[in-house]
Amino acid sequence: MIRNPIPWPNGAKCAVAFTFDVDADSTAHINWLDQVDDHVASVSLMRYGPEIGVPRLIDMFDAAEVPLTFFVPGWVAENYPETMRMMIESGAEIGHHGYLHDDPNKQTPEAERETVVRGIEILESFTGKKPVGYRSPTHANSRHTLDLLVEYGFLYESSLLGDDIPYEMDNGKGRVVEIPCAHGLDDWPNYMVWRDFNYFMSPKAPSDAYRLYKDEFDAAYRYGGMWMSVWHPLVSGRLARAHWIGELVEYMKGHEGVWFCTLEEMAAHVRALQASGEWTPRIDRQPWYKMPHPAIRDRLPKVAE
Ligand SMILES: [Zn+2]
Repeated sequence: MIRNPIPWPNGAKCAVAFTFDVDADSTAHINWLDQVDDHVASVSLMRYGPEIGVPRLIDMFDAAEVPLTFFVPGWVAENYPETMRMMIESGAEIGHHGYLHDDPNKQTPEAERETVVRGIEILESFTGKKPVGYRSPTHANSRHTLDLLVEYGFLYESSLLGDDIPYEMDNGKGRVVEIPCAHGLDDWPNYMVWRDFNYFMSPKAPSDAYRLYKDEFDAAYRYGGMWMSVWHPLVSGRLARAHWIGELVEYMKGHEGVWFCTLEEMAAHVRALQASGEWTPRIDRQPWYKMPHPAIRDRLPKVAE
């Protein structure tokens, strides 16, 4: 099923990385500006992430001896220093996730650059090392994002959806490993229902979401792929959902040859395979298009020269 299968370490059949985006109430400040104090219930839900969800998840994964990767907006690190300390002490990897969960496609190129730099500086001030991984808020990578990641020396990016296994993105000046996401492994579509966020669906029973996550794992295990959650402590950290995450971890651990890793470890493995000549990943050269394409140029609004 996978044409160019990646050899996982020690002959493992698949890689598994549990990643959580600790958004907390960062987006509240972008969405509601000076009205945040009037969205008390929504902010209480968002604060559940760093205050209740993260400690619970750390305890669970610590007991299971499974590593975690957290993506943290700079603003969240500044405003929840105790949660930051807990995550760092647990040994989890801390990745870059913007500052105020800003959407790069709604920023000027200068503002996007400032956000990248600010996020690096804040995370480094807590961890003592520059983050090597980046996940774009709301998967909203702009045409400038890859250039910035190359320029600031990121090892990997994890927001795109272009493959089942890691690949390399090349902008002509450098490369960044892409560790791709899958919508089946996001928790918002399964669980979120809340008027303020414009989610009006019925939440799934955690045992049903478990089946979805398990199916993704079974395929990754069978075909030599990877399984990576894109979860949120404010969504998946709730009691019954966390319980079913525990069931999932047990199910995975019941299989021989599952490599549980952080994303930094996965990206470093991709680079080591290339250095040894053992495996060559797919190279995705970007940008994909020279814009505007001649076929659509005539349809664009005319701009006075
Ligand atoms: Zn996020």
